[in-house]
Amino acid sequence: MTKPQHHEIVVIGAGICGATITNELLERGKAVCIVDAAPSPASACSSHAYAIAHPHIGKGSPRLLRLTRIAFLLAEARWGAVWHQHGIFQPTKKDREFDRAAITNHLSALGLDETLAKPLSAGEASEVCGITQSGVWLARGASLNLFEATNQALKNQERLTCIWNTRVARLENRDGQWFLFNENNEAILSADKLVIATAMDSKALMASIGIRVPLKPVRGQLSIFSIDKNDPWAEKLPRVGISGEGYCLPAEQQMEGGYRWMVGSSFDEGEDDLSSRELSDEFNREQARGLVDYAQGKSSGLKKCGDFVGVRCVAGDRLPMIGALVQRPGIFLATALGSRGILWSALAAKLISAQVLDEDLALLTRFGFAADLVAALAPARFFAGALAAPAALGALASNSKPVFPSAPKTK
Ligand SMILES: Cc1cc2nc3c(=O)[nH]c(=O)nc-3n(C[C@H](O)[C@H](O)[C@H](O)COP(=O)(O)OP(=O)(O)OC[C@H]3O[C@@H](n4cnc5c(N)ncnc54)[C@H](O)[C@@H]3O)c2cc1C
Repeated sequence: MTKPQHHEIVVIGAGICGATITNELLERGKAVCIVDAAPSPASACSSHAYAIAHPHIGKGSPRLLRLTRIAFLLAEARWGAVWHQHGIFQPTKKDREFDRAAITNHLSALGLDETLAKPLSAGEASEVCGITQSGVWLARGASLNLFEATNQALKNQERLTCIWNTRVARLENRDGQWFLFNENNEAILSADKLVIATAMDSKALMASIGIRVPLKPVRGQLSIFSIDKNDPWAEKLPRVGISGEGYCLPAEQQMEGGYRWMVGSSFDEGEDDLSSRELSDEFNREQARGLVDYAQGKSSGLKKCGDFVGVRCVAGDRLPMIGALVQRPGIFLATALGSRGILWSALAAKLISAQVLDEDLALLTRFGFAADLVAALAPARFFAGALAAPAALGALASNSKPVFPSAPKTK
């Protein structure tokens, strides 16, 4: 075997996840090599231009709720110029009463102050954000163009080596170093530390080193609608984002007076077909009616003018897999970002870089991380014998058979 180029740290996958981790490592003075099968960054799910971010306040495991708060604050601090803060409104579910005291207690138990989440009656919501429904106002909620953010994270960095058009087909450990092989079984790179951020393809790469990870694809389609200025829908369009059953961005007024409105997304479990579907647009029209409480809205008023179709990568318990792979020292996994690419990539950047740099994880408590949260994200949670977190954080798994914890499912 001819000796391939060696790097201390290689990141595989230049989506939002790999790019954010790479950016953090570069900022902390490390040299990084990033490799991707595509000719440029953000070619897959992270080509999404209309992603939203806010702390999760609804149903969900307590850990999920704590994690999304930490992750939201990290994402907000990270993205600066490309972070588009417009606020996001979360309407009260149709079958629920608006109970201000109960919501206030719930939000304060989650550590969310009024700048992050504030209950509003329908009258207040109409004044604050132009929506005549009760709910919770997430004033710092924002959207991010994942394509733009990924590219920004990898821009003009001196210590960054980018290798494009290079699919990594398998991994192998030789004498403590990780070797990356292409589809012709040629060793293309070697690394001391290897970060795998290849979404669904992490499954095949991990299988090449004898580890099974329980990942599944979930297809999603977001629709871009155009609305004539005289159509009744025009009166209903929001000037802020809305997140509930589905989500939408603030409607954008066009030069000619009409509007463009992004509404998503379908959630097609187990599917990975990237072709556009009329059925998914119709589903999004239905979500649009629910989001702005306009059951009579005609489908014909929401004319399709574009879409985004992507495949989310989701783990069995709906939390991302972020952390060192204790069974294979030197490998770090950051995948299963599901529908929260913005939040989980910001979290992955801090957690993976701390682990790659061999830092004391106790330092992460300054961001609100606690050992139980690190354990909840660790890939080890899926392997028999490694479930007794947090004490077992550093424990070796007894085998690589995936075990699905029975955590409640979340959206
Ligand atoms: C319809 C829809 C709506 C969504 N809405 C939101 C939202 O509102 N907010 C939000 O935060 N998130 C949202 N998401 C989720 C978000 O888009 C994803 O979580 C995120 O883009 C995943 O990023 P990633 O870097 O993990 O994966 P990807 O972007 O898929 O990147 C993986 C990279 O790895 C590369 N790669 C794969 N295999 C190999 C290999 N063997 N060798 C080399 N390179 C390889 C690929 O080329 C790709 O560049 C949505 C997703 C969908 C589908």
